[in-house]
Amino acid sequence: LPYTPDPARYDGRMPYRRTGRSGLRLPAISLGLWQNFGGTDVFETGRAILRRAFDRGVTHFDLANNYGPPYGSAEENFGRVLATDFAAHRDELIISTKAGWDMWPGPYGQIGSSRKYLIASCEQSLTRMGLDYVDIFYSHRVDPDTPLEETMGALVQLHRQGKALYVGISSYEPGLTRQAAAILAAEKVPLFIHQPSYSILNRWIERDLLDVLDDLGTGCIAFSPLAQGMLTNKYLGGVPADTRATRGGSLSQSLLTDQNLGAIRTLNAIAERRGQTLAQMAIAWVLRDPRVTSALIGARTVEQLDDALDAVGTLDFSAEELAAIDSAAAD
Ligand code: NDP
Repeated sequence: LPYTPDPARYDGRMPYRRTGRSGLRLPAISLGLWQNFGGTDVFETGRAILRRAFDRGVTHFDLANNYGPPYGSAEENFGRVLATDFAAHRDELIISTKAGWDMWPGPYGQIGSSRKYLIASCEQSLTRMGLDYVDIFYSHRVDPDTPLEETMGALVQLHRQGKALYVGISSYEPGLTRQAAAILAAEKVPLFIHQPSYSILNRWIERDLLDVLDDLGTGCIAFSPLAQGMLTNKYLGGVPADTRATRGGSLSQSLLTDQNLGAIRTLNAIAERRGQTLAQMAIAWVLRDPRVTSALIGARTVEQLDDALDAVGTLDFSAEELAAIDSAAAD
């Protein structure tokens, strides 16, 4: 069936937040295609999740060159959905991709951040997605063996060529973030956004990075706000089949210790008192700081996505709730 997006998608349920001091707003919740959208996943499931997200006001989709598996296949699948369902809506979408981790054989597409790798990878990503440009292109990681000037120079080039409307960095620590921004600024390219990990269980960005971003006027999109599924109610009654922790995926079962599960149980009770699921509270929690532009979630099913997106119903916290969350789980 041809897809017609929900005409009520911009009716005010999804907040859009200004990205740093740029002119662009991102949805409070964005969707990432790291897992569940690859060639080994069911295409129609991923497509249904993407459609539902767009129907509910999610205008930002985050990719990387190697999301899959196999590498590249999340971009290819996203390209298919773009060509069909979203073809008439390109200008309603913010699409990002990245390079920096392992991608193609040989010395130029491996973990690293050379000009060669970033420029070639961006070209490949555009081809896989069927795009002329991405909205955001990221340096996915710091490469200690590449001068920062070289990596930032590649971002500047992509920006000047119009292949990336905005540029960003991911997981750079505060000092290197400042240096990167200064190199870009000298070329009149703003550091638009930083993509770090952040959740109730992982608060490293509160130690300096958020202050630095605020100072630079750079936005912040927080990845894995659900701690890869730990900050949901799914592990409270044991480890169900078909989760990241059971498929030999990126969430190590060794993290599901009695101590962590105890904390999750306490957090779940706090969420229930707020009339929310734990997933919703975990997302609202990362958004409680206005310097966090967007919470970047993943979803394996439409039901998970719907649960997560309902977080926007209750974003505010009382001081008592925040204190209770801190005493249940500070990192
Ligand atoms: P989350 O912390 O949101 O974890 C998503 C996973 O949690 C889902 O795949 C699902 O796992 C589970 N889940 C989600 N919603 C629910 C729910 N309502 N109830 C129960 N379980 C739920 O984020 P991700 O780790 O997926 O990361 C999100 C995005 O961030 C990525 O797609 C990517 O775009 C980006 N990212 C960037 C990185 C970087 O280096 N820049 C690194 C990592 C992520 P399950 O299959 O177990 O059900």
